[in-house]
Amino acid sequence: MPTPSTQTINTELERQGEMLRQAQRIAKIGSWELDLGTGYLFWSDEVFRIFGLSPGQMEPSYEFFLNQIHPDDRDMVNTAYQTSLETRTPYRITHRLQDPETGEIRWVEEQCETDFGEDGKPLTSRGTVQDITESRAAELALAKSEATLHSILHANIEAILVADPQRRIRICSRGAELLFGLSLTEMADRSLDAFLPDAEQSRLADEIDRVLAGDPRVSGLQHPHGYRMRRATGEEFPAELTFTLNAAADERLVTIVIRDVSRQRSYEEALRLAMEKAEAGSRAKSAFLANMSHECRTPLNGMLGMIAIALSSDLPEASRRHLMIAKECGETLTNLISGVLDMSQIEEGKFTLKSEPFDLAAVVQRAIDLQRPAAAPKSLVLTSDVASSVADRYLGDEAAMQQILNNLVSNAVKFTESGAVGVLVSASPVDTRTDRLTIDVVDTGIGIAEAHRELIFGRFTQVDDSSTRIYGGSGLGLAIVKSLVEAKGGTVSLKSNPDSGSTFTLDIKLKRADGMPDE
Ligand code: ADP
Repeated sequence: MPTPSTQTINTELERQGEMLRQAQRIAKIGSWELDLGTGYLFWSDEVFRIFGLSPGQMEPSYEFFLNQIHPDDRDMVNTAYQTSLETRTPYRITHRLQDPETGEIRWVEEQCETDFGEDGKPLTSRGTVQDITESRAAELALAKSEATLHSILHANIEAILVADPQRRIRICSRGAELLFGLSLTEMADRSLDAFLPDAEQSRLADEIDRVLAGDPRVSGLQHPHGYRMRRATGEEFPAELTFTLNAAADERLVTIVIRDVSRQRSYEEALRLAMEKAEAGSRAKSAFLANMSHECRTPLNGMLGMIAIALSSDLPEASRRHLMIAKECGETLTNLISGVLDMSQIEEGKFTLKSEPFDLAAVVQRAIDLQRPAAAPKSLVLTSDVASSVADRYLGDEAAMQQILNNLVSNAVKFTESGAVGVLVSASPVDTRTDRLTIDVVDTGIGIAEAHRELIFGRFTQVDDSSTRIYGGSGLGLAIVKSLVEAKGGTVSLKSNPDSGSTFTLDIKLKRADGMPDE
């Protein structure tokens, strides 16, 4: 094999030297050598760069090196080196450099070993210095975020657990400690099953598996799951759990937030019982009113009957007048009792609406005819206008419809001193079998001020006491109308101007009974 020429050897050496320089630059590792006999210190190019200098910019020295070290780390580095010489052992330390001019800080890792002579004297130290500023920054960031996480969990009153796929607790908050009555160390590594009654364990295992598999139907704050849980004392309590998948790089964990809802549940239960009690009380009151009204009507009918018989006989004028007043009072009382009876039956839920064919136009006509005696002394014109679009027969509760219209038309007549009262009925088809009916009861009476328009649909409410004295009434009529109309799925509304009359409008959908046999 031919011996390589000096030139070839030099070229090869240069190439290897260049490769070493590049390798050091890329790895940010510099190398140095200190001759302890002469004090000569050699730095590779990369050491200069790590110290913020250009390669070969100056003659390095151990003192210069010490001066580049962060003042707080300087003694530690010097001691480490001196100890390694004394104990004849290599060392590896991490410390900071600080540019004396700019103040910029860099983290480096130093390694060093020393050759010793036969007499035990140190001859040459050599070592490496690696710039680890970036990885150190990442480490610090991680440590910071861990510290933040730790403080959040420690300060958190919410019970938060992080569990692995085997349901072992990895991390937990201070709130979990308080909720379950175990210390954080006692909770760590325990199975979640320890905090559940047996019957709940397999469900939790199943739901955690689904969370780990990424099933969105069980994860997230919008999907709370009701569980029974168990404290360390064995006491069970209702809880609401939310699961969130916590997919770290190398494992999947589940974050579980647990809310003790026992107080909320007991409030709900107390509220439910109070509601039940109140409803039972209200039902009992309605039942009592219904019974009383019924019981009052029988003797009242007897009294009215006797008055009618007495009135049909020959009587002195004064006695007739007295009996007429007694009759009117009796009739008012009958109306009042009927209203109370109807209202209490509606409230008691005893009022079931029938669905039978009936003639709406006839119902309207009857409501008007019924009021003729009351309208005659005031010379009121009573009219009805049923559009041709209105079918002959609809399916519904004729008696309820009659009562609604009787109440509205009798109010219209009662509160109108002159002019007219009219009922207008129109229909528009909703589908092949159903019509939407609009029934307006219009009067030219005293009207109703804006402030009273909502109130008058309440029970026992009238516009004012003086109107009661003038017009009489119980304040139940419109409450009954509203309840009946709403029971039919309809609405009742009012348009009115004081002094120029009122229009009550019913809006109800009814099925046509065309071609259906009468029942
Ligand atoms: P009542 O007529 O027995 O007093 P309602 O519930 O039927 O009870 O009516 C409540 C109140 O609404 C009436 O007292 C009256 O003040 C007012 N009201 C009802 N209808 C009319 C109307 N057509 N015009 C003027 N006021 C009316």
